[in-house]
Amino acid sequence: GRAMAVLTSGGDAQGMNAAVRAVTRMGIYVGAKVYLIHEGYQGLVDGGDNIKLANWHSVTNIIQLGGTVIGSARCKAFMTREGRVSAAFNLVKKGITNLCVCGGDGSLTGANIFRNEWKCISETRRRITDTMAKKHYNLNIVGLVGSIDNDFCGTDMTIGADSALHRIMEIIDAIMTTAQSCMQLLLCINCPFILCYNFRYLALVSALASGADWVFIPEAPPQEGWEDNMCSRTSGGSRMNIIIVAEGAIDRNGKPISSNYIKDLVQKRLGYDTRVTVLGHVQRGGIPSAFDRILSSILGVEAVIALMEATPETPACVIGLSANQAVRLPLVECVEMTKLVQTAMNEKRFDEAIKLRGGS
Ligand code: ATP
Repeated sequence: GRAMAVLTSGGDAQGMNAAVRAVTRMGIYVGAKVYLIHEGYQGLVDGGDNIKLANWHSVTNIIQLGGTVIGSARCKAFMTREGRVSAAFNLVKKGITNLCVCGGDGSLTGANIFRNEWKCISETRRRITDTMAKKHYNLNIVGLVGSIDNDFCGTDMTIGADSALHRIMEIIDAIMTTAQSCMQLLLCINCPFILCYNFRYLALVSALASGADWVFIPEAPPQEGWEDNMCSRTSGGSRMNIIIVAEGAIDRNGKPISSNYIKDLVQKRLGYDTRVTVLGHVQRGGIPSAFDRILSSILGVEAVIALMEATPETPACVIGLSANQAVRLPLVECVEMTKLVQTAMNEKRFDEAIKLRGGS
């Protein structure tokens, strides 16, 4: 029969468990053998106990859990051909010809490289071992985008972004009580990774969702004179203000706007007790939102159908959400487009980044 495996890779994102559950159960439902690969690509490279045959109950009671129960990892070995040969060997040994990878753009890039090499890898391995099944030359790959940053071209939402947004709102609501009575509140939305790109989605939508007074994102530098504007408005109305600063925020001259700069400004001009809260890894914590659970379930089911329908000629695909529908997108193009957007963002070519990201 057909066999498939699922793994989670890169930074964990809420909803990954729901994706693993959906892939597992849908796989079993269509009559496939399903394996859970623990610890991401590391587990695939190491093999052994990391690759476990699943049954219906292997994924019971995980949909509501944060993180990923099968573990995730950043794996250096998989970046090397030797590591990928070992990974291929471990799959072929078990007759696994379908792989679902849930991770960010790095993980999906790796999956695509792996797939392109698959044929020569498995042939090479066949020459040096007799135990290898002879037929398994084809590897079907499907990707699910798990990333809190909503930073992937082709899908309206990535798995985990909505839960991260909920978490940020909870934090804002929690500190609001204190802020209302005595101080200004300044939030610095820091992405947990050094390179932070895209629309600074979380900063922007959490500003909307929490009724922030100001939000600074790199793509939309504030009007000249924003400092005066901010301080005059702040002093006129209610004294409680939420200001959200995304990493990489700049003014019209390209000068960085940091949360500490705004803090000093507000303190000096208005004499307010102002606090900066830096959101780091807490954005990742907590339980997955209803949306992420449902999103992952819908995408996971479509992933299995895509794997079952794949032929050797079918290019690797990513399952995305478009206009509330699960859609299959060419993995290579989505990854390439995502990289172009990242580069444009990093080089501060925001208009181009917005245009590139455009219709997706
Ligand atoms: P996040 O959005 O959380 O950063 P990611 O999937 O982009 O997730 P990465 O650290 O970039 O995270 O990639 C995760 C793993 O995927 C790497 O540790 C590596 O094992 C594999 N990987 C990434 N890029 C490649 C590549 N070019 N070739 C082979 N494997 C890769």
